[in-house]
This record gives sequence, C-alpha cells and structure tokens, in this order.
Amino acid sequence: MTEEIFRHDGYAFEFEALVVSVDGDLIELDMTAFYPGGGGQVCDTGTIRGLPVTDVSYKEKNIVHTVPNNDLKVGDRVWCSVDWYRRYDLMMGHTAEHLLFCSLKKQDPELTITKIFISPESKYVIVNHDISWEKIDKALKFANKAILDALPVTKSIMSRDDPELANVRIKLDHIKENEEISVVSIGDIDLSACSGVHVMETSEIETLFVDRKVSAGKDGVAIHFKVGNAAKESAMSLANICLQTIDEANSKPEDIVRTVSNMKREIELSREMIKKAVKQQLTSLEPENYNGINIYSGIFYADRTILTDTAENLKNKGGVIAFVSVTDTVSVLMASGNSKINCKKILPDILKEFGGRGGGKPDFAQGGISNISAANDILKIVLERIKQSL
Ligand SMILES: [Zn+2]
Repeated sequence: MTEEIFRHDGYAFEFEALVVSVDGDLIELDMTAFYPGGGGQVCDTGTIRGLPVTDVSYKEKNIVHTVPNNDLKVGDRVWCSVDWYRRYDLMMGHTAEHLLFCSLKKQDPELTITKIFISPESKYVIVNHDISWEKIDKALKFANKAILDALPVTKSIMSRDDPELANVRIKLDHIKENEEISVVSIGDIDLSACSGVHVMETSEIETLFVDRKVSAGKDGVAIHFKVGNAAKESAMSLANICLQTIDEANSKPEDIVRTVSNMKREIELSREMIKKAVKQQLTSLEPENYNGINIYSGIFYADRTILTDTAENLKNKGGVIAFVSVTDTVSVLMASGNSKINCKKILPDILKEFGGRGGGKPDFAQGGISNISAANDILKIVLERIKQSL
C-alpha cells in the first residue's frame, strides 16, 4: 500500500521516493504526495525525476502515476515534485467548497449536494434546487467573514458509532462498514466527512465569490465559485459589467433589478399587443379572387410564427397564401392548397434574387432576406408569379 503523504501533510510538495513498480507508463512509488483525486477534486500533476506526471489514480489500495514515455526502473530513487501552485489552488478550492456549502445551507436548510467539481479551470457545487442571489449574497458575507476570522481547518478520524457523527455532513451509504471516517472541520461552523486535501486556515482562501449559476438539469443547479485572486478579479469585472448595464438602462445601482424587470414586463406587454393586432388583421383579411382561386396576402409587422397557423388553415380551404413578416429582417411564408401552385418552385428563386434563402415543400415554403425595405417589392413579385402559374 502506497504511503500517502498528503493524508498528514497537505503542504508537502517535493519528496524523494522509491520506484516499486513500472508497468509501461504507470509508475508506483513507496510513498507519494500526489493526490489521486477524490471528493470532487481532480488529481495532482507534476514531475517524477523531471518527467511529467499527467494523471494519478488509485489501483486498488496503491496509487499509480501516469508518466508517459518514462525510462524509470524498479529500485530507482527519484525526486518528485507536485505542481504546487495548481495543488494549492485546488486545496483552497476544496476548503472553499465546504465553506460555501455550509454558508448556503444556513440560508436554505433544505439544500443538499448532488455533485462537486474542483479543478484549476472550474469549481462548482451542484445543489438540489435553485437558490436566490439574495441568499447567495448573505451566504458569501458569512463565508468571507469566516475567511477574515482565520478559522482553523482540521482533520480528525471518527468511527461509525461515534455519537458526534450526528453533527457531520455525511453520506453514510457511501462509506463501507468498519471503514474509518475522515472528518474535516472548519472552526465550529462546519463538520463534513471528507478525505480531500485542505488548507490549514480559512484565511488562506483570501476571498470566496460566486460568479455563476447554471442549470444542471435533473441534478439541480451548479453554483460556480472562485477563490483567492481569481475571486477578486471576477468580482471586479462583473461589477464593471453591472455598472455598464446600469448606465445603458439609465438607472441606479439600487434600482437596476427593478428597472430590468419593468423593461421585461413592458416588452412582454408590447409583444402581446402586437400579437393581438396581427391576429385582428388576419381575421379581417379579404382574399383576392383570381381565376376562381382565393389568394390571401399581406405584410405583417410581427414575428412570422404568428402567421403559420392562419396560413395552414387557409391552405386547407384551398387558398393560396403569400405572407411577409417584417421584424429586423424579412420573412416570407408561402402556402398553397391548389395543385397548380408549387411553393417550392416559386419562393426560393425569388428570395435568391433578393440575396436571401428559402426552402420547403410544394404546399409550404418559407425563407428570408435581410433588406427590410424590399418587403413590398418581394410580395409584389410573389403575387405576380402566383398569378402566372394559375
Ligand atoms: Zn470535501
């Protein structure tokens, strides 16, 4: 069994060890400070005798290091070095994850963890349901106060029948019978079963900041966070984006959330009004009877999705339809309930003449162009070609 230096000393990153097994790229040492990953934290990287270690993992109770194209032999004494800056960022991230979750849980006692991920590029905890930014703000204030208070982070071993275990965040079904339980405490604010590597004091995290919430589907919501200098930089750049948004909306910091939700409501209201007006326009639409065929046409200042149902209904009654929708582009929709009119043959060619594109079937075609001033012309041409075909 490999002696695991990281269990009792998370700060040891250089060590000398004996190569005890070589199997191609896979190297086993008598002892190692390389953390093989666990508790959501990715494994360490670094070097063994100057050769890059690209992966570290458990093979039963031993730890194997992946050292591609190595010339190591059993019995070699080797100098090993864990990439310290990367490892320290992961240690900070792991302690920060414990601190963040216990702070969030104070705000929302129903919160549980679905998944944890801590890597140099990305750190997040997936929780079972969404939590408001107001609660996250309160949780971060609590967590950053704990960082300022420089609380000790300690590890202890508990047995399965220890009554203290009732106060520990733990998934007992993940722990085998008779297995000793490693518990990490943060001051007197959090006790959590964990065998990961941690910093010794909360002050080492410097700053903890949540910069993103992303849906994780059925797993819940991923709360992304940053630590140390990355947290400060992220907080500053997001604050600047907020200030730009406040300027753009002619608002004030204390009013911006209300301003944006008012804007959203106004947009929704305007959309509803446009929809109603267009529906009205569609119901009062009079066809032009040409050689016994009803041709329905019009220009509508609304999204084309509103027009589709009407076009479909009129088509089913044997009509021929040419609708143009104008938003920031022009969409043309053509439908035909008459076998003489093949939409697929007519519309794409006309759109092409106007620098646009379209496609569809003989009874239904659609497409668009970007030049909104051509809306009238395009409708005129579509109607001409329809009449030519009848
Ligand atoms: Zn942990």
